[in-house]
Amino acid sequence: MARKTGKTQKKNSKKRSQITMKTFKPRSIFSNVFFYVFVFLIGYVLFSTFVQSEMNADVRPISEAISLIREDKVQDITVSGDRLEVLLRDGTVFRSEKEPSISFDEMLANNQIDRSKIAGEIKIEKGFDVAGIIVPLLSFAFPLLILLFIFRQMKGAGGDIMSFGQSRARLFNKEDTKITFKDVAGIDDAKRELYEIVDFLKNPGKYRKLGARIPKGVLLVGSAGVGKTLLAKAIAGEANVPFFSVAGSEFMEMLVGVGSARARDLFQKAKAAQPSLIFIDELDAIGRQRGMGIGGGHDEREQTLNQILIEMDGFDTRTSVIVIASTNRPDMLDSALVRPGRFDRKIVIPMPDLKDREAIIKIHMVGKPIDKDVVVEKIAKRTVGFSGADLENMVNEAAILAAREDRKTVTEADLEEAALKVTMGSERKTLQTPEEKRMVAYHEAGHALVASKMPEMDPVHQISIVARGASLGHTSLPPERDRYNETKTRLLSLIATMLGGRAAEELEFNEMTIGASDDIKKATGLARKMVTEFGMSDLGPVNYDGQEEFGWIAREISSGRNHSEDMASKIDSEVKKIMDAAYAKAKEILQKHKTILDKIAHALLDHETVRGAEYEKLLA
Ligand code: ADP
Ligand code: ZN
Repeated sequence: MARKTGKTQKKNSKKRSQITMKTFKPRSIFSNVFFYVFVFLIGYVLFSTFVQSEMNADVRPISEAISLIREDKVQDITVSGDRLEVLLRDGTVFRSEKEPSISFDEMLANNQIDRSKIAGEIKIEKGFDVAGIIVPLLSFAFPLLILLFIFRQMKGAGGDIMSFGQSRARLFNKEDTKITFKDVAGIDDAKRELYEIVDFLKNPGKYRKLGARIPKGVLLVGSAGVGKTLLAKAIAGEANVPFFSVAGSEFMEMLVGVGSARARDLFQKAKAAQPSLIFIDELDAIGRQRGMGIGGGHDEREQTLNQILIEMDGFDTRTSVIVIASTNRPDMLDSALVRPGRFDRKIVIPMPDLKDREAIIKIHMVGKPIDKDVVVEKIAKRTVGFSGADLENMVNEAAILAAREDRKTVTEADLEEAALKVTMGSERKTLQTPEEKRMVAYHEAGHALVASKMPEMDPVHQISIVARGASLGHTSLPPERDRYNETKTRLLSLIATMLGGRAAEELEFNEMTIGASDDIKKATGLARKMVTEFGMSDLGPVNYDGQEEFGWIAREISSGRNHSEDMASKIDSEVKKIMDAAYAKAKEILQKHKTILDKIAHALLDHETVRGAEYEKLLA
C-alpha cells in the first residue's frame, strides 16, 4: 500500500520537477488560507455581534425601558434573543437586555403593560445570540484545528503529508554554487583525485568516446566538519553543473516506502538535469549493513538502500550523473554499496594538519579586519584537533568578540578566547565560596604540574579557574605538533595528568570532589583501550573487544564479547593496575613539588587564568 502511495505521488512530482526542485508545499498554502479564513470568520462574528454594536450603542437597564414604555414614549421595539433595541418617539435608540428566562410578552404581562403602549411595531427577530453561533462553529472547527496541528507537526518532522514521494533534495543551481576548489583549503590529495570527476562532468563526451568507465559513486570519508559537503559543492561548482544535496536521514520517514519513492524521485530529477551531481550526506543513515539494525525503521532503510542501488545500477554509459556520498563510518556501510559500479571510489578526508589549518583559518579570515600582530601559524599550531568547521567557527566567534567590545580589529586574544569557546563553551559566572574556588584551583594546578613533570607531555598553554560550559576550570595542553601515533609512555603520562586533579584534591584537602569524574572517566577509557585494543598490558598483544565498534546495543544483543568471564575480570584488574599506578605517580609528583603546586594554585586564585609564560616562571 505504501508503495502505491509512492507511485502516485511520484507522478505529481514528475510534473513539478521541471518547475522547481525545492520542497513544494501545497498543503501549507492551503492550510494557511484555510486558517486565515477561519480566524477572520470568527473574528468577524465576534466583532459584529459584540464589539461593533456595543461600541457605539447606548445601553440602558431594562427597568428604564419598562418605565419608558409605561410613559408611552416608545415607538418601536426590536427583540432579538434577549436583546431589545428600543426606538423612542423622539428618535433616540438604545439597547437593553431582558431576563433570558421569559419572553418579551411575558415580561410586559409581568409588569402589567399592554402591548398597545408601544406605538409602532414590535419586531421579534430570531435570536442572534453569540453562543448559538460560536458553539457549533467551534465544535466544527476544533477537530479541524487539531488535524491541522497534527499535519503541521508531521510536516515539521519532515513528512509533508501531501508530498510523500518527493525527494527533499535541495537544488543548488549553477548560479548558486559559486564554491570552487579555491574555497576549500588544504586536502590537496582529495582535490587531485576529484579533479577527474570534475573533468568528466565538464566533458562527458571525451571519456565516453574512449569507452572509459567513470565512477558512478564516490564516497567521501571523514569526521564531521572536515569539509566533505564543501568539497562536494566545490566539485559541482568547478564543473558548473547542478548539485542536488540530500541528507541520508531525510529519506527516512515513518511510513515505509516513502524513502524509496524519494530516492527514485531524486535520481529522476538529477537525470533530467544531467550532467549533474547528487550529494548524499550521512550515507550511513541509510547504508548501514543490512540485518544490523535494531528496532524500527529498518525495513524502510533497506528499501531505500535497494532503491538507491537500483538507480545507480540503472545508469548507462550515457548517464552523466555522479553520486557523491559522505560518511564518517565507512566500516558500517553495507558491502553492496561499495561494490564496483557503485560507491567504488573512496576518498578519505583527514582532519586538517598544521598547514591545512593555517590555510583554512586564512580563508575564513578573508573579509574580517584582523590585527596585524596576529600570526596565523601560531593559531594553527594551537588548534590541533580542530576540524575545518571548528576553525571557521573560531574565526567567526573571534570577530563577534571584537565587535561586541567595539574594537576595530580581531586580535590574537580574541582568537584565543574563541578557540576556548569552541572547545569548552562560553565563560560562565558561578557563585562559588572561596573554599570551593580553592579546591578548583588546586585541582587544575594538579593537572598542570603533573603534565609538566611527566615524560613526553606537551607544555602547559593555559590554566584557568574560570568556569566554562560544564567545567569549573581547565588546563589546556595543546599538542605542540600534529601527532600521528602515540606511545605507551605518552598514554601513561596522559592518564597520570588526568588524575593529577584528583591527586591534588586529596593531597591538599584530604577530600574528593565530583569535579574529577570526567577526568576519571576519560582516563579509565584510555586505560581500558590500552589493555583491550593496544595490547599494552601483561595480557599481551591481543584484541579483547572485537565488537567495540557497534556500541553497547549490538554487544548486548549478539553478546559479541569474544572473551571469557575469567578474561573479563583479568582485563578489569589490568585496567585497575594502570590506573592505580598512574594515580600513585601523580600523587608522588605533587608531593615532591608541593611548594610549586601551592604557588600555581595561589597564582590561579589571584589571577584566575595563568598563561604559559607566567606558568613557566612559577615552575622554575
Ligand atoms: P562535513 O560535510 O565534512 O561535515 P562541511 O563541509 O559541512 O563538513 O564543513 C563545514 C564548514 O567548515 C564549511 O562550510 C566550511 O566553512 C568549513 N570548512 C571545513 N573544511 C574546510 C576547508 N578545508 N577549507 C575551508 N573551509 C572548510
Ligand atoms: Zn580535572
